Order: sequence, then C-alpha cells, then structure tokens
Amino acid sequence: MSYQENMKKAEVLLAKLAETPILNHIGGQACAAKSGATFDSVSPIDMRKIATVARGGAEDIDAAAKAAHGAFDAWRDMDGGKRRAILHRIADGIAARAEEIALLECVDTGQAHRFMAKAALRGADNFRFFADRAPQARDGQSLFASGQMNVTSRRPIGPVGVITPWNTPFMLSTWKIAPALAAGCTVVHKPAELSPVTARILMDIAEEAGLPPGVWNLVNGFGEDAGRALTEHPLIKAIAFVGESATGKMIMRQGAETLKRVHFELGGKNPVVVFADADLDKAADAAAFMIYSLNGERCTSSSRVLVESSIHDDFVAVLADKARRLKIGHPLDPDTVVGPLIHPDHEAKVLSYFDIARDEGVTIAAGGSKVTEGDFGDGCYVAPTLFTGARQDMRIAQEEIFGPVLTAIPFADEAEALEMANDVAYGLAGYLWTNDMTRALRFSDGMDAGMIWVNSENVRHLPTPFGGTKDSGIGRDGGDWSFDFYMETRNVAFATVPRNVPKLGL
Ligand code: NAD
Repeated sequence: MSYQENMKKAEVLLAKLAETPILNHIGGQACAAKSGATFDSVSPIDMRKIATVARGGAEDIDAAAKAAHGAFDAWRDMDGGKRRAILHRIADGIAARAEEIALLECVDTGQAHRFMAKAALRGADNFRFFADRAPQARDGQSLFASGQMNVTSRRPIGPVGVITPWNTPFMLSTWKIAPALAAGCTVVHKPAELSPVTARILMDIAEEAGLPPGVWNLVNGFGEDAGRALTEHPLIKAIAFVGESATGKMIMRQGAETLKRVHFELGGKNPVVVFADADLDKAADAAAFMIYSLNGERCTSSSRVLVESSIHDDFVAVLADKARRLKIGHPLDPDTVVGPLIHPDHEAKVLSYFDIARDEGVTIAAGGSKVTEGDFGDGCYVAPTLFTGARQDMRIAQEEIFGPVLTAIPFADEAEALEMANDVAYGLAGYLWTNDMTRALRFSDGMDAGMIWVNSENVRHLPTPFGGTKDSGIGRDGGDWSFDFYMETRNVAFATVPRNVPKLGL
C-alpha cells in the first residue's frame, strides 16, 4: 500500500477509535475502570490524542484475577485439541485484521509500517506455533528404577499475569499469551500505558474466536498501580514480564510476599563483533539493521559494534554513511525506516546521551540531534546516530539507550573483543561476524549472552530458546521452554514390586 492509502485507512480507524474508549475486559465483559478513571493515549508522530483508555487499578485487577481464577479449572481440563482449535481461530482472526493492527500500531508507537506489518503477522504465527503444541503440553516422561516406575506430567500453574512493554506491544503480547493459553493457564494482561491500542483488538479477536469468558482478561493502567497490584495478587501464580531491568527488580520484590514465579525478558546492551576476515558488507548491513530498525527500540538491538582495529576506520565510515542515508519519516510511509520515538520523556532520555557522549569526548560520526524540520518538529524524531572513538568503560557503551544510537569501539585481538563483549551488566544477545569457524565456535562459547547469532542478523526460529543472562532476564521462552514456565512438573512414583517397607522396630 502507498503512503496515501495507509494514511486514508488509518484516519478511518482513528476516527472510530476516537468515538469508542478503550475499555478493560474482565470475565467476558468490556468495562470501564471501577474508579471511572481514564488516561489518554497519544501518538508520538505529532502528540495528537488518539484514544481514551480505562485506567484500571487494584480493584480492577482483583476482579480480573478472580475471573481468571474462576475460569481456570474448565480451561485447564478442556481437551488439548479443542484448545488448539480455538488458538488457531485466534491466529486466523489476527491474520484477517493484520492490516488494521499494523496501521494502529504504527500510529500508537511510532514504529515504521514496513516492520509493523510483519510484526502483526508474527503475532498470528506465535498463536499457530503454540496452538499445535497444546495437545502435548501435559506430556511427561517415564523414569524407571529398580522396583519403581516414575511418571512425570505437567499441569498448568494457574492464572498468570502478563505485563508487556511499549516497543512492539502487539507481537510481544502474543508471544507471552499464546503459550500461557496453550499450556492451560488463564491470563490477566496489563499492557504498557504508552501503547495500549492493539491489546484491545487482540482481546476482541480472542473472544470472537470462541475463547471462554474469563480465560483472558485485560486491565489497562499504569505500572505503579495496575501493574503492581497484578504482581502482588495472591490468586496470580506467575508473572511473565517484558520490560526494563529496573522494573523487573521491582516486580521481584513486589511478588516476594506471594512467592510469584517470574519470567523476565529485560534490557540489553548487545554487541556485534566484527573480525577483519568477515564478509564486511553483510556485517555492516546487519549492524545497521539491528540498531536502526524498530527505531532502535528493541531489546535485541546491536547497540555496540566492536570492530577489529585493522578494518575499524573503513568499517565505521561505511556505517556512518548508512546511518546518514536512512529514511526518517512518518511511520505510515512504506519507505520510512526510522520513525518517532515513543514519547517525549523517552526522547529526552535518548537525547541526553548525546550530551553524555560529547562530555565523554567521543566523535558523533552521524546524527546526534533531534530532527525538527517541517512536520518532524511536532513529534519525537531523533536522527540515527553513530558514536566513534568510544571506550568500553564509557556510559554510552554500558547503558541501554533504547534508541537508534550505535557506539563503535575498536579491538586489537580476539581476547580483547571477548572481554569487551562481556563487560556489561546485560547478557541478552550477541552477534558475531567471522569466516573463521574455529574462532566462531570458540568465541560464541565464551560470550555471556542468552542468544548469539553468527554471521546473521537476529532471525527468530520459534522452537529455539529466547532470553538473557545477568540483568537481561530470568528464564527462556520459545518451544517447550515456554511451557516449563507456565506449568508445574510433578512426579508420581509407583512401586513395581512388593515393598519391604521399614518397620521402625515395631
Ligand atoms: P517498563 O519496564 O517501563 O514497562 C514495562 C511494563 O511494566 C509496562 O506495562 C509498565 O506499565 C509495567 N510496570 C512498570 N512498573 C511496574 C511495577 N512496579 N509493577 C508492575 N508492572 C510495572 O519497560 P518499557 O519502557 O515499557 O519497555 C522498554 C524496556 O523493555 C527496555 O528495557 C527493553 O530492553 C525491554 N524489552 C525487553 C525485551 C526482551 O525480550 N528482553 C523485549 C522488549 C523490550
């Protein structure tokens, strides 16, 4: 679709959104917050208000947790094949409304349409993938010992809370909720307050697909009230959280009293390590793609590029040129690569790193400023930026900036590259470019990160584990790892011979 077509369709959707507030959804009913409170959702393109949203609090979470608790037994006991069919219908519903989802997601988050169109369809794939695994989710093992046969099985843990961030909200919500439902858990979802629009569409699709009332509940609101109440609620057995590392630490404290099981997908400061023997054209494309796509608001973005000294100057010159030539624009323009950041507060945080970089004495080889020409001045547009001449001990090399900002650092040899790659608080992802396969095996083995791609950008294969080490998170998603989080494993031991039970001298 052309830019004009996207704009026209989006205006129709936005007009509809303006007429109908985004409500919570509890026990199969759309409902306002019990307090009557609302908040505005604003587009970072021009700071225009696009929706009025119910501002849920502790009372709404309580009602949602009770609804999820009430629906749990029947959903847990439903035949896996039936759950599979419902989840496939949800995937069908997502695919049918993918265009609408992508357009609204662009306006709500500022992410470019070329990426959001794919992300909406990824949401359908996530449902299909876990739908097909629903019938086997409870399967276990038989473990034999002399005179004893052990049978393990899994059962869903209970109602769970899902708390999602603002960067790619639709796709991430499906990534957490689909496996929870496939496992037989019921859900209370608290989407990010900065981009709540598509969570409501997802909820509607689910109930139209025949999901029983109460199995999935939606409570909009802020982290400090609705989010906090969800993590503290005694009926909620686990929290699947995607967001900042600092928030993860808070949630762990909040959930301690009720011994919540937690799964955390948190921040990153991911290196892309480029050796001189690599395919340098592809490495440069991948480094640029992994930091400048999705506005750099991506947990697995390659926000540090570590480059072998012998090729450093030429390689960063190519990267700077790419950064300068990227199309910044309206998210609904299909040619746009970089759109506005989510919110003025986040934009201010990203811009503050330009001052930090100048104070730290690095070179700003590309970008380094807010974009203000013409219509851009109304929104949160920041130029794709490259810092060169940086050192690993600088803040721009250590802290997650979460914007289109790349820090380049040279390394002398493999040992120094590995030390720098691991020298951050985070351990989410790493990218390695070399044509020496022995080095690739050795180096990737030494990297302290949950996911490493060798000679590739980030390409997700849904059965593989997703998650990080250190401050990047706890636990893994994907394939059976998701079920391990949402389910309890238990063991039943059968005696296979008459037991010689100890008589305690009696
Ligand atoms: P955030 O931590 O500020 O918010 C995430 C969610 O947590 C929101 O819904 C928010 O309302 C809620 N929240 C905030 N305080 C809470 C509290 N005290 N109790 C319960 N809930 C609370 O994160 P964000 O700014 O929305 O998202 C950006 C962050 O997410 C980045 O750090 C990014 O790296 C991370 N992220 C990680 C992954 C991953 O897979 N590792 C994926 C996407 C984003």
